Amino acid sequence: MAVNKVLPDYMMKNVILVLSLWLCGVSGCAQSSDQSKKTAAAEVNSMEKVEKSDEEWKKILTPEQYYVLRQQGTEAAFTGDYYHQKAKGTYVCAACGNELFSSVAKYNSGTGWPSFYEPITESKVGTEKDRSYGMVRTEVHCAKCGGHLGHIFDDGPRPTGLRYCINSVSLDFVANPDVAK
Ligand code: FE
Repeated sequence: MAVNKVLPDYMMKNVILVLSLWLCGVSGCAQSSDQSKKTAAAEVNSMEKVEKSDEEWKKILTPEQYYVLRQQGTEAAFTGDYYHQKAKGTYVCAACGNELFSSVAKYNSGTGWPSFYEPITESKVGTEKDRSYGMVRTEVHCAKCGGHLGHIFDDGPRPTGLRYCINSVSLDFVANPDVAK
């Protein structure tokens, strides 16, 4: 009552609104927003990038791995070691060991290349528009070392509707019968 005498009702509403926004700004709201940004940034920063010269990659990789991973090559269809593989486990980057795909997301696309409907997490891979060979495709690469993996198409199965069409030679497999994702 005493306050109402000092300020009319319409002004009190404005005062309360401003106070609420100020409190939100200096405490919870701003902090939770900052926190989510910091968490996302930390996730990106925690992935230590692998950078090597072409000469260094040539020493580490087989000629076929170098051609596919470092020169955006493509292995011949139906020739890769993992095309028919159905074992449970994790597919990692053949160049740097980054965990890329789970056997849970692998399916038989009939294309001749190992196919997955999603990576283990989005942050594990990067994408780029590829305009080579007169086509516009989405190239997918390892987010850690930049190694070329394959391409993404939108004719995959549920739940994503995507097909990550991956060269076997870009992958290594770590068996794990308990793999969940
Ligand atoms: Fe890699």
